[in-house]
Amino acid sequence: MSSDVTERGVFGRLVGQHDVEQSLRAAALSARGDSSGSDMTHAWLFTGPPGSGRSVAALCFAAALQCTSDGEPGCGQCHACTTTMAGTHGDVRRIIPDGLSISVKGMREIVNIASRRPTTGRWQVIVVEDADRLTEGAANALLKVVEEPPDRTVILLCAPTTDPEDMSVTLRSRCRHLALVTPSVESIAQVLIGRDGLAPDQARFAASISGGHVGRARRLATDDVARDERARSLRLAFDAASASTAYKAAENLVKSIESETKTLFTDVKERELEELKVSLGGGGTGKGTAGTLRGSAGLIKELEARQKSRDTRAKRDLLDRTLIDLAGMYRDALSYALGSSSTSTHPDMAERASDLASRTSPEGLLKCIEAVLACREAVDFNVKLQWALDAMVASIGEAFRPPFSRSGG
Ligand SMILES: [Zn+2]
Repeated sequence: MSSDVTERGVFGRLVGQHDVEQSLRAAALSARGDSSGSDMTHAWLFTGPPGSGRSVAALCFAAALQCTSDGEPGCGQCHACTTTMAGTHGDVRRIIPDGLSISVKGMREIVNIASRRPTTGRWQVIVVEDADRLTEGAANALLKVVEEPPDRTVILLCAPTTDPEDMSVTLRSRCRHLALVTPSVESIAQVLIGRDGLAPDQARFAASISGGHVGRARRLATDDVARDERARSLRLAFDAASASTAYKAAENLVKSIESETKTLFTDVKERELEELKVSLGGGGTGKGTAGTLRGSAGLIKELEARQKSRDTRAKRDLLDRTLIDLAGMYRDALSYALGSSSTSTHPDMAERASDLASRTSPEGLLKCIEAVLACREAVDFNVKLQWALDAMVASIGEAFRPPFSRSGG
């Protein structure tokens, strides 16, 4: 166990979030003296950029609330703390949507749990990760609980921002809000050194190219696939600049995203379908089996719809990582062109960024960044991946065409 865990308890899992940690410790401590549960804030909202650890923060708080040690809440050693952090505490429910949205049906189940009293723990805690994926109906169902919460129930919502697109204004207004910040390169490096045992040079390098994302830094330091993925994204910055390579590169990207998604879920899908069939009696050979199965076609359809939604979500996540890297590359080129000294997103690619900068104007680079952002938006609005990417590389190609080019002049 690292020293961080012994000194800071469960909060040692947070990276570079000093203010949030202080607020949560204070709240957990005062909740202890609150035997009626009436003074407790029952709904919390954790926001922060991807990788800042918003769901980790929520989980740490859940552990601190359940912690049975006499010392600081969230000791990290007691049964309540360890089971909460491991996801096995009976009174801490984590809702992690794997599809595009959390449905009303899913939310009703949550509301049901929220109305129960804790069985062994001090509180009934519900952590909703990606609360920005609540459908309007689901948000309304949740709002009812948040407005009149049972005494011992605490609801912890996690979302990227408090933007009305991510979170309904009413729901937001009923929650106490804590904003996590992007952790610094140094604090990420310290985690990789202290917790993952990486060499300092390796840790600092991975942290510097991670875009402030702890998990990504860890993967970039240890996983070839993550490094290949990043290399592919950065190559696209150049391939997209020239018409002869742009569309092929876009097509290849879609292909590899599709095949990665497929391998990601093949086993899970087969298992889910098998489980459903067994639960419907499809595993049997009795006379009634066929009839049961026919009647259950709707359930199978429902499962397939859920799986499709999860696929789409995974594809978007993969694409998103690529686009963020890509936008970072053009951003670096732009800072280079403007002589800005801001920290670069890809410090190891400085030469290539200056090469890009020499091939178009700052306006052209700005146009490239806009094209990447427009692609993200289009995909969010359900435009087909291939179409969105084709449109993106077309705009990027324009930014690099001769009238905008500085070469030779
Ligand atoms: Zn504890």
